[in-house]
Amino acid sequence: MGTQNRQPSITEHPYKKGIDDLKMPDNLTGLGRIPAVVEATDIVRDSVGEDVPIIAGMEGPVTLASDLASVKKFMKWSIKKPDDFKAILDFATDACIEYANILLDSGVDMICVPDPVASPDLMSPATFNDTLKPCLAKFAEAVDCVKVLHICGNVTPILDMMGDCKFEGLSIEEKVKDVKEAKKTLEGRATLVGNVSSPFTILSGTPDKVKEDAKKALDDGISVVAPGCGIAPNSPLENVKALVEARDEYFS
Ligand SMILES: [Zn+2]
Repeated sequence: MGTQNRQPSITEHPYKKGIDDLKMPDNLTGLGRIPAVVEATDIVRDSVGEDVPIIAGMEGPVTLASDLASVKKFMKWSIKKPDDFKAILDFATDACIEYANILLDSGVDMICVPDPVASPDLMSPATFNDTLKPCLAKFAEAVDCVKVLHICGNVTPILDMMGDCKFEGLSIEEKVKDVKEAKKTLEGRATLVGNVSSPFTILSGTPDKVKEDAKKALDDGISVVAPGCGIAPNSPLENVKALVEARDEYFS
């Protein structure tokens, strides 16, 4: 579980010994934290009304597969056991599709999918193209809402392939240096979301610095100004609010 200073993460990997007994639970809707998330959607809807879209976040298929197998085994299988690698990815993709549709049924309007393990920091662009991209595209085709894909790090080497994943939005970090070029690469395929630095600006900067970075992002061609990655615990609320103020000032 998480703490005030640390985001929650899983502590066990059920399939680290192998994929022989991969089995989808019969009643995913009723398991783990899923009922709490569905209830939270109701609470949020009651408090914001019908005019504010609710955006749910969920881990993507590549990261889920690595959680099931452990990152170490997942990386190893990607080279030594390609069939097992593919099998656990397919399994995780199906689970993500089922969960996303539970979220939509509960009244969520949009889904944001961070998939950090798909980053070129961990997986090669060739693996992304051959094996990960089809999983992400399958997910996007099976989930009928506006979806944003976030992959961590400098995704410049896989950006063109990310454009083929059929997500309406692609969220990028400030580590992607040439946003203008990124926009050109994705023209007509996906909208750019991001890329105000979560650790350096939103966590440790000032509201003025947030506004400066947000306006630069918009100038460079980001269409939806947003944190570049997950918002770290202890980020000042005024810095998050400054993002919205920057957007309003920019378009006023
Ligand atoms: Zn990230």
